[in-house]
Amino acid sequence: MLVMTEIPGRLDRPTALIDLGAVTHNVRVVARHAPTADVMAVLKADGYGHGAVPVARAALAGGATELGVTTVDEALVLRDAGITVPILSWLSTSGYERAIAADVRIGVSSPRQLAEVLAAAGRAGAPAVLHVKVDTGLNRNGVAPHEWATTRDALVDAERAGLARLQGVFTHLAHGDEPDHPFLDVQRDALAAAAADARAHGLYPTQVHAANSAAALTRPDLHFDLVRPGIAIYGGVPVPDRDFGLRPVMTFAAPVILVKPLAAGDGVSYGHTWIAPRDTVVGLVPAGYADGVWRPLSGRFEVTVQGRRFPQVGRVCMDQFVIDLGPDGGGVSEGDTAVLFGAAPGAARACDWGEKLGTIDYEVLTAVRGRVHREYTGQS
Ligand SMILES: *Cc1c(COP(=O)(O)O)cnc(C)c1O
Repeated sequence: MLVMTEIPGRLDRPTALIDLGAVTHNVRVVARHAPTADVMAVLKADGYGHGAVPVARAALAGGATELGVTTVDEALVLRDAGITVPILSWLSTSGYERAIAADVRIGVSSPRQLAEVLAAAGRAGAPAVLHVKVDTGLNRNGVAPHEWATTRDALVDAERAGLARLQGVFTHLAHGDEPDHPFLDVQRDALAAAAADARAHGLYPTQVHAANSAAALTRPDLHFDLVRPGIAIYGGVPVPDRDFGLRPVMTFAAPVILVKPLAAGDGVSYGHTWIAPRDTVVGLVPAGYADGVWRPLSGRFEVTVQGRRFPQVGRVCMDQFVIDLGPDGGGVSEGDTAVLFGAAPGAARACDWGEKLGTIDYEVLTAVRGRVHREYTGQS
């Protein structure tokens, strides 16, 4: 069943309606698919553009027990909001002392970074809780195979010196969204081998983890101790053409602030790239590419007003775009709400924009920004 977000009949500005009930539901869906693993909700980039703090609370209500972010600053935003559950920061380049003081776990990806974190632990006078990221073939960040032995030995020394405790060993997948890809097996085995080698050398990692949303939903052999869903909890599309019953969390909507008639032959917006082919009525929506309405979508998307679809015409500008309401005006009045994408009847999905733009819904969702007001619904 497709559950719709309640769309306010009137909005006073472009708004991202964030359905926190959908977050809670989506976390439950992931948890059901990974019953033997803990769930770490991934909240990087301000919760994929949805607001990290409210999403964190909704995710915890759905059964997540930990939170994951990239930077220490992102972790401290959660701590400052009073969130006390475990938080892992896995792409920090600074701020380690603040992380240790705030009980934020630190992902380490190289021997040099490990040395920096240990120095910070010495200054802080408290051990760092570490998750070592092993590069099992994504070739992005992570300890490379030739650095593994040095890193492991440094971790053993650091534990002896009371500077650190190795809590986790993790990796990130190159083909997570292709559940049958053979490289998933390669990465699984390399991660398991690194964890086993750590244990053979006297380290006791209790959290081995690899799975993003896609692997959490499709590959039990990659669940290990913990799964790290991001896009799934926002109701995006973790694996193309697979339906897991996830609900879109963000509905991007804006008021129609002006309705006016045009004569056949009138041009619309910069460059007059659209000329009215007949007498018609157009509406103006005050959201543009600075708000996450991508200029390359000019003339290539539709909005819905009260469930009816209307085409966007002419160039999308920085702050506004125009929709063609048709000769009869489509029953649309100034003040009505136009839905750009999300959980409204007949509305486009973020992934539809992604497809048109040659990108993914992750980028579409995180692009909604700046002046766009956020309104939270569905709080439990
Ligand atoms: C972003 C990220 C995730 C979440 O990925 P999704 O595909 O959004 O589920 C998990 N782990 C790491 C290391 C990440 O950077």
